[in-house]
Amino acid sequence: MKVALIGVGQAGGKLTERISRYDSEMGFEAVQGTLAVNSAKPDLQSLECVETQLIGAERVNGHGVGGDNELGAEIMQSDVQQVLDKLDGRVTSRSEAIFVIAGLGGGTGSGGAPVLVHHLQRVYDIPVYALGVLPGQNEGALYQANAGRSLKTLAREADSTLLIDNDAWHEQGESVKDAFARINTKISERVGLLFASGEAVEGVGESVVDSSEVINTLRSGGLSVLGYASEVANEDSAQNVQTVMSVTRQAILTGTSLPNATNGDSALLVIAGRPQAISRKGIEKARSWLEEEIGSMQVRGGDFPLESDRLSALVLLGGAERSKRITEFMERAREADQKAKGTDPAETLTDDRLDSLF
Ligand code: GDP
Repeated sequence: MKVALIGVGQAGGKLTERISRYDSEMGFEAVQGTLAVNSAKPDLQSLECVETQLIGAERVNGHGVGGDNELGAEIMQSDVQQVLDKLDGRVTSRSEAIFVIAGLGGGTGSGGAPVLVHHLQRVYDIPVYALGVLPGQNEGALYQANAGRSLKTLAREADSTLLIDNDAWHEQGESVKDAFARINTKISERVGLLFASGEAVEGVGESVVDSSEVINTLRSGGLSVLGYASEVANEDSAQNVQTVMSVTRQAILTGTSLPNATNGDSALLVIAGRPQAISRKGIEKARSWLEEEIGSMQVRGGDFPLESDRLSALVLLGGAERSKRITEFMERAREADQKAKGTDPAETLTDDRLDSLF
């Protein structure tokens, strides 16, 4: 799937660069254009290989917005034309989707990303998705409250919001900086593989995934989640029925970007590995298992041919907003926002006790 990536704020810029670098190192060439947008000049200067656009210079003089996501939203609203102008040549006729990437707990990305998505939806016919990073549980009340409002607004504006929880790959005793570097690498590998797996590859099997399957899986809107796991493969596909089942189970049960988010409206299962090692029977069994696990019959599946001694499962879960994890997070955000208690899980994202950003 040919994509344009726009990072907003510090985390957004870093992730855009990381994903784009992974894509070119692997030779996938799915990432066709990148842009990092921020109100903090030093954060843009630390990026090496993406184009940048400073916003809000008149209001904050390149110093950022602190944790004020309402100011982040206002600045994006005022300067959005400059950002759209800069996208000329980065979003092209070949682009199949746009991803706006941001940490949802901060200021510029948290406030700016939903505003930018809103404007991109008016300008472009292709789907506009968000890739949002949720703050870890220990990150403090302001981050939780900001992320809650940002997520609620993104869920309304974006065609789907792919969520990454900063607690998903937490390791003991690690500094925040080291943790970010590791998490960013994991995100880039998973998201990079998703983009690449939606690319038509010539000369290989009939069941290769294409970009319409990614788009159809995300069609129900709302929130989405990405799961991943891999294992050493046996030589021959007949011996890999269990391997395919096992990586698929792990991908969704222990390997998702949002822990315990296992319910959805639809899923795409991509098995990556050497074509001779991929078990068709394994994929069929894994698809049936997934249908049961997520509670939906809409499970698509396909291969991604990759020269590797491992077999990997990548699971994209669309319409994941009914997952318990989301309800828990919105509750956390609402408490942090000094508002009252929970409600029906399906209503969490439209709950008017948590204000939208705009
Ligand atoms: P902004 O520049 O005002 O948009 O703020 P940030 O992008 O720093 O957003 C803060 C949120 O993003 C917090 O929840 C941080 O934990 C998270 N964050 C900041 N940098 C990174 C990063 O490099 N990787 C990840 N995964 N999260 C980050």
